[in-house]
Amino acid sequence: MRGGDEYPANLVEFIDWFPSDETCLQYLEAVRWPEGFVCPRCEGEQCWPVNDRGLKECVACHHQTSATAGTIFAGTRKSLRLWFLTMWLVTAEKNGISAMGLQRELGFSRYDTAWTWLHKLRRAMVRPDRDHLSGLIEVDETYVGGDAHGPRGRGAEKKSIVVIAVEEQPDGIGRIRLRRVRDASGKSLVTFVKDVVEEGATIRTDGWKGYARLQKVGYEHQVVNVSRSDELAHELLPHVQGDRPTQNQFNFDYVTKRPAIASCRWNCSQSVDNTVRLLPKS
Ligand SMILES: [Zn+2]
Repeated sequence: MRGGDEYPANLVEFIDWFPSDETCLQYLEAVRWPEGFVCPRCEGEQCWPVNDRGLKECVACHHQTSATAGTIFAGTRKSLRLWFLTMWLVTAEKNGISAMGLQRELGFSRYDTAWTWLHKLRRAMVRPDRDHLSGLIEVDETYVGGDAHGPRGRGAEKKSIVVIAVEEQPDGIGRIRLRRVRDASGKSLVTFVKDVVEEGATIRTDGWKGYARLQKVGYEHQVVNVSRSDELAHELLPHVQGDRPTQNQFNFDYVTKRPAIASCRWNCSQSVDNTVRLLPKS
């Protein structure tokens, strides 16, 4: 089954991939449980289906859950396929589809409904066209999916690259923006920064050459040379690939010099992973 690391490349493929609510649900289940079902309460791995809408009951503790629990799809009366198509239109359109466009394209009978969906999705998907980050922002990129133990580097082949911008605040981290990018080239990274960060803000990155142009395009650029092993390098959200980070995955240098990114590594939740996985390629 197709899961979190695969995305349709265009609308035709999208229609092929998701012909029914069932295929959408299977996709969400593969994203949520890439290694098979895990009970969120007791970590049991066996379940039986309760209904045909994806509700499952843990054999061990009888807790009931579904791949859509806790997501924007939870408890929806609309079909999952309609949600998926809406997501596709919202993210694939370069300048974003309007509520009126959505109402027209998907045949919503009420404008209000289209508007509500649009805004719910935009919130859930951390749209880059929202308000710009400002102040001090840490930017880094991470790899999602592929073989966790494969070769690292900025041109990782099978992995998807996600670039992240985190606002640093005195009491922790502020707003976060994420984007799936084609590669870690200067073009991809700087375009992302320009889209999500206010001009004149201070951007802190590591010494990767992809960030070298930031100064030229109107940002204060702080380069932090962080000593970290190759194994650690750019694994921003290590639990995306399985386990939650453990303390010894961080070195002191990293935490002290890049506090916002480090705390993001600690705190980013499953829902952020899933958001990342549902982002289309830019
Ligand atoms: Zn259980």
